[in-house]
Amino acid sequence: MADKSFFIDTTKCTACRGCQIACKQWNKNPGTKTIQRGTHQNPSDLSASTFKLVRFSEVEGPEGAPLWYFFPDQCRHCISPPCKEVADGKVKGAIIHDEATGAVLFNPKVKIKPEDFKEIREACPYDIPRISSAGVMAKCTMCIDRIKEGLLPACVKTCPTGAMSFGDRKEMLEKANKRLEEVKKKYKEAMLANPDDVRTIYLLVDDPKKYHKFAVAENTFGMTRKLALKRIFKPLKELSLIG
Ligand code: SF4
Ligand code: SF4
Repeated sequence: MADKSFFIDTTKCTACRGCQIACKQWNKNPGTKTIQRGTHQNPSDLSASTFKLVRFSEVEGPEGAPLWYFFPDQCRHCISPPCKEVADGKVKGAIIHDEATGAVLFNPKVKIKPEDFKEIREACPYDIPRISSAGVMAKCTMCIDRIKEGLLPACVKTCPTGAMSFGDRKEMLEKANKRLEEVKKKYKEAMLANPDDVRTIYLLVDDPKKYHKFAVAENTFGMTRKLALKRIFKPLKELSLIG
């Protein structure tokens, strides 16, 4: 099976939240109790039982008119997942990188200590990992059980507008770049979010921070500053070039 990727074209997203519900259904995750917070975004954040969340942002558009941006947030299934790099140093087998598809999977059989989880979550440039009250980490699984049977991930299958696509990575990158060219004719700021580092590629038409604080990684390597420095200094230390 070839390396896989999602392509999420936010210009086609109507925030119907079908993907969010399909994800809950397929993973048999319970509904989350919410309150009216003056926004359509519901629940307020990702959790160990909400792997996909359509984020809503109201921003100021041309001439002060209100503008809505929708961001169907989920794990990016990073090419070199920083969460796994940190987890490997804590508990072996807590995070698995499926070679065939590239899916990054949290092992539901492994329990994590709160202090270790804190470091794993901080390593994720997109703030995705969550933990249950039982100490088990959870997030999007790429619907690995479905795709190994030749089915689409539940969210992609459900999306009625074509905002979500899934397939071989090469094909998804081509699709994303082609669509970016089209969209750029109207939106000069249009961009793909960290396409070389992730397997969930978003097309955005404005400053990513307007969509979500963690829409793009802090740097182009798809890792936190702390982890990037660790990677630079570790080899030097091994060569005894620094103390
Ligand atoms: S987005 Fe975060 S949780 Fe998902 S693979 Fe990348 S580092 Fe890990
Ligand atoms: S199902 Fe598609 S259109 Fe609806 S919220 Fe999800 S990505 Fe957007």
